[in-house]
Amino acid sequence: MAVPKFRISCCKCSRPIPLAQDIYALDREWQRRFPSMTGILACPRCALETAWSCEKPSGREYVDGHIPALGKPRMQDFDAWSHLRGKGAHNAMALMHPRSALLQAAEPYLRHVAQGKDVRSVIVVEVRAVLREWDAADAKPDRVSWLAAAA
Ligand SMILES: [Zn+2]
Repeated sequence: MAVPKFRISCCKCSRPIPLAQDIYALDREWQRRFPSMTGILACPRCALETAWSCEKPSGREYVDGHIPALGKPRMQDFDAWSHLRGKGAHNAMALMHPRSALLQAAEPYLRHVAQGKDVRSVIVVEVRAVLREWDAADAKPDRVSWLAAAA
């Protein structure tokens, strides 16, 4: 069975991301700052050209509500780039972040993967579990709680 063609839609600007471009995964600080985002997978432009400082103008403390960048010491947690969680090709990022990918136009691809044997089985098991949960929800789960389960 042919792999379905798909392009992830940016969580922030909603545009379909060109296949030649990398997808960036955003962390919970991005979600806190941009609560209307649909998912956490962003286009390069939104990921790299959105700017903020994590610190108050004094530079001595974080802004209120700041969610620390995972696994980074304070020296490396000071702006929007500090809160990028990695980047990769569409299919790789869909498999790494299946919950978000479901919200971002990758559902046909994930359903294909769930049926197939061409991916490491631990990934297939994970994708199947997420799809079961998705299908079992009566209504589309609200974005915040759906994504929080992935954190
Ligand atoms: Zn974007």
